[in-house]
Amino acid sequence: MKCEECQLEMTDKETTSCLYDVIKIDEEFYQRSRYHFSESGGRCADCGIVHGQIHHFGCDVERCPKCGLQMIGCGCVNEDNAGFFISSEIGDQESIRQPVEPVNFPQR
Ligand SMILES: [Zn+2]
Ligand SMILES: [Zn+2]
Ligand SMILES: [Zn+2]
Repeated sequence: MKCEECQLEMTDKETTSCLYDVIKIDEEFYQRSRYHFSESGGRCADCGIVHGQIHHFGCDVERCPKCGLQMIGCGCVNEDNAGFFISSEIGDQESIRQPVEPVNFPQR
């Protein structure tokens, strides 16, 4: 299955991360959360990225950088208020917020 944002094949071993490490929510840039579970094998069981990298959008493990809840359920993002970016392509004059600490996350 391909990531709807970066278009990489998630099951491909060569795909270690989503390409977009920044999400813009309501006109603010945020670094996307690198929170992950501790599956053996070192990769996310849901989207296949290497632990510590960026989950593909829609992964149920990704935490929202704005509120810390599960990204797919928190309600901060909808089709009209969000966009995906690569940090190196964002100008120096823009500030990029760090993600807040994850809250209410399940342990696996
Ligand atoms: Zn992706
Ligand atoms: Zn994932
Ligand atoms: Zn949120």
